[in-house]
Amino acid sequence: MDFTAGLMPLETALTQMLASITPLSEQETLPLLSCFGRVTAADIVSPLNVPGFDNSAMDGYAVRLADLVAGTPLPVAGKAFAGQPFHGEWPAGSCIRIMTGAPVPAGCDAVVMQEETEQADNGVRFTASVKANQNIRRSGEDITQGATVFAAGTRLTVAELPVLASLGIASVAVVRKARVAVFSTGDELQLPGQPLAEGQIYDTNRLAVHLMLEQLGCEVINLGIIPDDPQQLRAAFLEANRIADVVLSSGGVSVGEADYTKTILDELGEIGFWKLAIKPGKPFAFGKLPDSWFCGLPGNPVSAAFTFYQLVQPLLAKLSGNTAHSLPARQRVRAATRLKKSPGRLDFQRGILARNADGDLEVSTTGHQGSHIFSSFSQGNCFIVLERERGNVEAGEWVEVEPFNALFGG
Ligand code: AMP
Ligand code: MG
Repeated sequence: MDFTAGLMPLETALTQMLASITPLSEQETLPLLSCFGRVTAADIVSPLNVPGFDNSAMDGYAVRLADLVAGTPLPVAGKAFAGQPFHGEWPAGSCIRIMTGAPVPAGCDAVVMQEETEQADNGVRFTASVKANQNIRRSGEDITQGATVFAAGTRLTVAELPVLASLGIASVAVVRKARVAVFSTGDELQLPGQPLAEGQIYDTNRLAVHLMLEQLGCEVINLGIIPDDPQQLRAAFLEANRIADVVLSSGGVSVGEADYTKTILDELGEIGFWKLAIKPGKPFAFGKLPDSWFCGLPGNPVSAAFTFYQLVQPLLAKLSGNTAHSLPARQRVRAATRLKKSPGRLDFQRGILARNADGDLEVSTTGHQGSHIFSSFSQGNCFIVLERERGNVEAGEWVEVEPFNALFGG
């Protein structure tokens, strides 16, 4: 039986979308503190060796191996501190007191840590064998001058920016922020803080999308709620297209319910309305407006946030020049609870990944998986990824899980 007729696999949709995206070429130079989450516009080459000079990894004593005679103490001829090197005469048969980070004095073969010494009347006695090079951090052993530290297309985080600070680099050329316009469509939508008329609901999607865009380092242009009215929708699409690189709408993409959305988009650009073989998030639209790319998210809040996460997030990464975007690696664990599923779509249920009493990772369901149950993102910490053709899962069966990234608090 073919469960999949007419439904596009997630991978196909993603490949088609990414193939049509041209990364932004404009760049700006910003101080390190403003670079979190931004993408390097060019290779960053090290102006220095790191460490910049041979230095001590320990508090202790700098020695020359030739001066060491087992059991014989050495007198201390001077001191070297971090930031205050020892420049004096180092007589044969003596050692130099040295602190962590201090440059090792010329001729030093090893640093003996304080814990392997004892004070004697006439100097310091070494209580363990001493090997050449021990406890010396060599110049350039982390990064060599002229080496490419981070290639163009690297997203800068707390893992990268302090490395640049350690190289004395104060600012970086990064790809400019993607400008993304976002609006919600629907006559039933109301702003939080306002009273609800009969049949109205509060707009959830615009906040979800706005927050995710900010976390991804985009410039957000929030155009509010647009009623299901062809005139106003057309004006919103035109305005969004004029000012943004990417236009994101939510709602009205299930064909048949909101035909005028489709009509307007067909008229303005080249938009494909897709039925994706995934759950949540079957209806999804993608295409090109005259001056921007367009993604139409489904109206149901879980579906909107989920399709943003799986499809728009990689699109924005590519647009922003990030060449190494990936979602957290999937892993195989046993289901701790029964999971309801019908065959036909790749299912991304929200799950709770935790260690059981035996210390093994296992996953349990967050409960109701309806595409209106947004709290499942807060209760869960991962997606339970269930293959298209799979049916119900019994407790104890192996399943794949994909931990949430930072967008959902992972
Ligand atoms: P639609 O795709 O416009 O037919 O919407 C599908 C479902 O999602 C309906 O129940 C809508 O009321 C709901 N919905 C649409 N947009 C939003 C939104 N921005 N916030 C919360 N729910 C929404
Ligand atoms: Mg609607």
